[in-house]
Amino acid sequence: MTGPSGMPGGKKPPLRIVLCSPRGFCAGVVRAIDSVERALALYGPPVYVRHEIVHNRYVVDALKAKGAIFVEDLDEIPNTDAPVVFSAHGVPKSVPEAAKARNFITLDATCPLVTKVHREADIHFRRGREILLIGHAGHPEVIGTIGQLPEGAVTLIQTTEEARDFMPKDAGNLAYVTQTTLSVDDTNEIVEVLNARFPAIVGPHKEDICYATTNRQDAVKLVAPRVEAMIVVGAPNSSNSQRLKEVAERAGCPHAVLMQRAADIDWEKFGAVASLGITAGASAPEVLVEEVLDAFAQRYDVRVETMSATEETMFFPLPRPLRPSEATE
Ligand code: SF4
Repeated sequence: MTGPSGMPGGKKPPLRIVLCSPRGFCAGVVRAIDSVERALALYGPPVYVRHEIVHNRYVVDALKAKGAIFVEDLDEIPNTDAPVVFSAHGVPKSVPEAAKARNFITLDATCPLVTKVHREADIHFRRGREILLIGHAGHPEVIGTIGQLPEGAVTLIQTTEEARDFMPKDAGNLAYVTQTTLSVDDTNEIVEVLNARFPAIVGPHKEDICYATTNRQDAVKLVAPRVEAMIVVGAPNSSNSQRLKEVAERAGCPHAVLMQRAADIDWEKFGAVASLGITAGASAPEVLVEEVLDAFAQRYDVRVETMSATEETMFFPLPRPLRPSEATE
């Protein structure tokens, strides 16, 4: 290890740590995790959860320990009276239909801001528009949004190149929606291409990228140019966390790393920095940020400050069947 930790008897070197605010859990993630916790309290274990409730291993393992069983497909669930929770990312319409056919009790923890995008897509479809979805192939939210409508109704656009090459059936009858967790800047570029090519294209009244994604990216833009390195605490399959790393790099931070927790810190790389920014994706719990802070505090004489892009007050109530006033315990 070349980091300062091994300095025999020496003083710890100083390190300025700048915490990005807001960071970590968003209102949709809190609601999704609370939904599983509440379902466990109401129904007792097991509670089945389709897909990782949010993209974070620590959160998933903690819920597993309490009796949640995670599956990727409803086929993995035996016939049961136990409830089945749908993850924050949303599901294709075929999933609740299949659950109903098997008489499962279902609890939908889809983030209300993802449901809003589903509704927009549905309205465009009913108005006969050809729909473009700006997003990343294979992400569960994208699979869920495409799956709201019949096959072929939605075309995925991932890059400005794809936006330039797209050939519509009728350029006067187009609409677009987006994934909620994209890079604000990349998406603006794609939308600019679409607007220039198809001036009549209909977009969201208020953008689909959610408040939490936007605010976390704004905070990173504030901090990244002022530090030598940036740590994004989050999972590799978390879209918004991946975007935070990219935003940090583009904002001028020479060394941005996405990591799940303190054990992942590569002290070869973080052994000689004087300033460090830390943020966390919307599905990463604060306890993992604290773990990273503690790891640095063991090796450095740290001075911690916070830079805030905005205050957040968003709150989403639990799915209706789980609200205390609705449920009979
Ligand atoms: Fe909802 Fe945004 Fe959080 Fe996703 S990141 S769960 S869309 S608030």
